[in-house]
Amino acid sequence: MFKVAVSTYPLLEIDLSIIEKNIKVLLKKCASWHLHPVVVTKGFLADAPLVYLFYRSGIRSFADSNLENLLYTKKLLPPEVRLSLIRLPMKEEVEEIVAQGIIPFVSHWEMVEALSCEAEKQGKVLPLFLALESGDAREGFLPEEIEEMGDKIDDFPHIKVEGICSTLACLSGVLPDEEILERLVAFKKGWEEKWGRKIILSVGGTTFLSLWEKEKEIKGVDEIRLGEALLFGNDISRGRNIEWLESGAFTLKAEIVEIKSKEPDRGKETGFDAFGESGFSPEAGKRKRMILALGKQDSDEHQLYFADENAKIVGATSNYLVIDIEESNRVYQLGEVVQFQAGYGAVLRAFLSPYVRKVYHW
Ligand SMILES: *Cc1c(COP(=O)(O)O)cnc(C)c1O
Repeated sequence: MFKVAVSTYPLLEIDLSIIEKNIKVLLKKCASWHLHPVVVTKGFLADAPLVYLFYRSGIRSFADSNLENLLYTKKLLPPEVRLSLIRLPMKEEVEEIVAQGIIPFVSHWEMVEALSCEAEKQGKVLPLFLALESGDAREGFLPEEIEEMGDKIDDFPHIKVEGICSTLACLSGVLPDEEILERLVAFKKGWEEKWGRKIILSVGGTTFLSLWEKEKEIKGVDEIRLGEALLFGNDISRGRNIEWLESGAFTLKAEIVEIKSKEPDRGKETGFDAFGESGFSPEAGKRKRMILALGKQDSDEHQLYFADENAKIVGATSNYLVIDIEESNRVYQLGEVVQFQAGYGAVLRAFLSPYVRKVYHW
């Protein structure tokens, strides 16, 4: 915390028992599917209580898109834990990646070369994953690029291709299906035959789970990288709750700082907020609204779920959340603390906000 926190709120409460249950269930499922689970820690900034919980529950592989989070995790856990950097490295990260033995995902031969040079300098052999573009048009080598350049791997004696990886349902929202999996498995087999040794095929994230849930045997995929399923028990990419997992681990609490009946001045020009979004479009007439001391800086109003079904989140500014309570049967009081279930984006922002306190409980 960069300043002294004065107020208890906003507060993010994290129920570790729910997450522990999810880990146990997923570990069992992954064992029966012959999949090695990798926990993705970016959603909670690799915060120590959760990292410890995952480790104690049997997780031995962690991944994050921010190198800082991985270096932090490395300090918390024994050295045999496997740490992967799942965002493509920046050039200034190369030295630290090699020094700390972080396993990077790469998608350019220039980066492979840079990593190899650094590993040579440090007298090491660095394991890495080749990211494969598989339909999301996000990061990854094009398959033909790898085939064409495949022999070049021999030119880099200080790196070892440990596996290939694919990420879906993040940017374009393309969902994985069996055809995509088959293509990835065929690619892996081709590679293994060519080079005469086994490599790992790693897929992620949560969106891939539904392919295994069909209980049809899938061969050739070695590991799955998961964040959302473990933390939230749902799969936002397919808009579903995963019925064999639990949700509700994250509760965001905030205080009411105003309750008044108001109507915006109509017939005035409307503009945009600090995030470039256009103004709210409230219903006609005076409406009772409450304003909370919680803003976009602390959370994502689109992923906050309020228990009062007759109240409606109107919108948020950098530092306020406005809720229409005109239709509500509940009586709200100034100074009262209300709570929301928080989704992935809301939780990520709460972790990033120094204004939000985090409290863990069982
Ligand atoms: C975030 C991320 C994941 C985890 O995705 P979830 O949907 O949270 O399970 C996996 N792989 C990569 C590369 C990611 O960036």
